[in-house]
Amino acid sequence: MTNLERTKAVFWDVDTQVDFLHNSGKLCVAGSESIIPNLRTLTSLAWEQSIPLVASVCAHEDNDEEFQIFEPHCLIGTTAKRKSLKRSSRTSS
Ligand SMILES: [Zn+2]
Repeated sequence: MTNLERTKAVFWDVDTQVDFLHNSGKLCVAGSESIIPNLRTLTSLAWEQSIPLVASVCAHEDNDEEFQIFEPHCLIGTTAKRKSLKRSSRTSS
């Protein structure tokens, strides 16, 4: 990847949180745990290639208006709100 191509690339990491990806999560989609290793690989690749990484998280206080639509999830101060992804220990050689 050339520097010009690299500047056009962004790794966009949205809602990769326990409540969405893990089977124990409040709003988990069936089978989503299976993509966690691939998401970790992509995240590590972005770091290694200096590709800008933009990450966002869902975070709610108790009694958030969104809970009228979805059950309570990603509560601030809980482990369920945590990001599921950590950089893998991949090393480039
Ligand atoms: Zn939410």
